[in-house]
Amino acid sequence: MKRTAFILAILCCFLFGGAASASMILEYGGGVHNYTGSVFALSVNGEELKNLPLEPIIFNDRALVPVREVFEALGAKVLYKSATRDIVITYSGKNVTIQIDSNVAYIDGKTTKIPDGVTPMLIAKWGESAKTMVPVRFVSDSVGLLVDFDGKSGKISVSEKEKEKDKDTKTVQNKITGISAKEKDGVVTVTVTASGNITKMSSPSVTASGTLYVDVDNLGYSISNKKEVNLGAVSTVRLGLHENSVRIAIDTENMKKHSVSISGKSIIFMIAADETAEITPDNKNDDEDNEGKTGDEGKDSNKPKPSELSGGKIYVVLDAGHGGTDPGAIGNLMTEEELEVFHKALQSEEPIVDTLEAGTGKTYYEKTIALSVAKKVRDKLEEKGVNVIMTRAGDTYPTLDERPEIANKRGAAMFLSIHLNSTVMPVTAANGIEIYYSESNNGKEYGITSKEMASIIVKKAAKSAGTTQRGVKAGNLLVTRKSVMPANLIEIGFMNNPDELLKLISDSYQEKIADGIAEGILEVLGKIKLP
Ligand SMILES: [Zn+2]
Repeated sequence: MKRTAFILAILCCFLFGGAASASMILEYGGGVHNYTGSVFALSVNGEELKNLPLEPIIFNDRALVPVREVFEALGAKVLYKSATRDIVITYSGKNVTIQIDSNVAYIDGKTTKIPDGVTPMLIAKWGESAKTMVPVRFVSDSVGLLVDFDGKSGKISVSEKEKEKDKDTKTVQNKITGISAKEKDGVVTVTVTASGNITKMSSPSVTASGTLYVDVDNLGYSISNKKEVNLGAVSTVRLGLHENSVRIAIDTENMKKHSVSISGKSIIFMIAADETAEITPDNKNDDEDNEGKTGDEGKDSNKPKPSELSGGKIYVVLDAGHGGTDPGAIGNLMTEEELEVFHKALQSEEPIVDTLEAGTGKTYYEKTIALSVAKKVRDKLEEKGVNVIMTRAGDTYPTLDERPEIANKRGAAMFLSIHLNSTVMPVTAANGIEIYYSESNNGKEYGITSKEMASIIVKKAAKSAGTTQRGVKAGNLLVTRKSVMPANLIEIGFMNNPDELLKLISDSYQEKIADGIAEGILEVLGKIKLP
């Protein structure tokens, strides 16, 4: 086959009756084909998608569209598993799995067939890379999206279902009556309040573009469906009706952590742009109960004198993050196949790590790894004759207030909280060790500041572990803010980086990190002078 002949064969593109007709050279199914079908314009939620890598292709009156461009634009999650050639599309709690060149599909786990023998395909424009093309109507119907074909205007439109507001609100008694937002210590709390109690919601999801949402059944709303917030990581709160349920969607920028909980008539979203911000309910209670008491002045005036409290001894407090009912970040190991997909995504020009699913392998908890490393640090320090106090030695949950309180009451000279990092996406390529201190607890009366302590410990830990040193960061975290001695919170690796999780669960890597942290603590102790 002479390839040059085909390049010249890209003939023309003319309009008739709205839909354009094209002749283009396509590679698919192991061969090269001259495609002379109609070319439709494609719009998503009313907006035309320009510069598509490949226009919709019509086979047997069925349109195939590029899966990522169309469905991700609607907020769906698209995962391509190259090992099995599966495409998993998740939208609004429904999911459909289809396979390249196969007419078998699974909708929410139930097997069905794609009609008319038009299967998902890998199709390439001549000389370009292949795109994953999927039957638009089948996928849309499967996950509850609307498709409209307009032969006259030559348009395919995919959109979220129309909101039949009047009909729906008549049958729903409970309605959202207010949305409020406030920011404290880098955490934005959005409270959505209804007229009656809310008992159930879907599990929270985050789209690739950073919209956090939950669906609540038997709920309507009697206020405007959009509220501009523009606080911290939160830009807008939007409400959308789907039959008898409301979707509460929060558009965010640089959201690193979030929690969503129900409290009586309200749903409370806590959103932080800071990976280590504490967004557990304890932090919230602290903010509400101790408003104004946590500033510098309040803290300084009741500062205990370490030398008095400790009887002249130097104590180091180690705080293993989370524990008990609070597992902290959760990480799933990936199977070999999943790891292969992850590594391919890392190498691809357009990384799709953000849309990859978490692994399906064994689950690990931040609380367990943090405690294991804390105990190793304790053992190493005790070998050197250092007095170590642990805020927890088992699977228990001291509150965030109790942790620094233990250090304050004992007149400890140093406080170090050990945590593991994570991002809001299921999978991340971020890796390495970073450390936090609180600017409101950074005085030099101990001969060293919290920031100087942080710089020593993070360097030693990253060097010993042989990993990325992500640096010293200021963060107004409760445990470092409420401690009255040099205090840091170290994040020793990412639970949702599958490669890093593999290392973090190994005893040898934990030993290396613990060695580095212990070395750092010993160096800091050499500089500490009790006031
Ligand atoms: Zn943590």
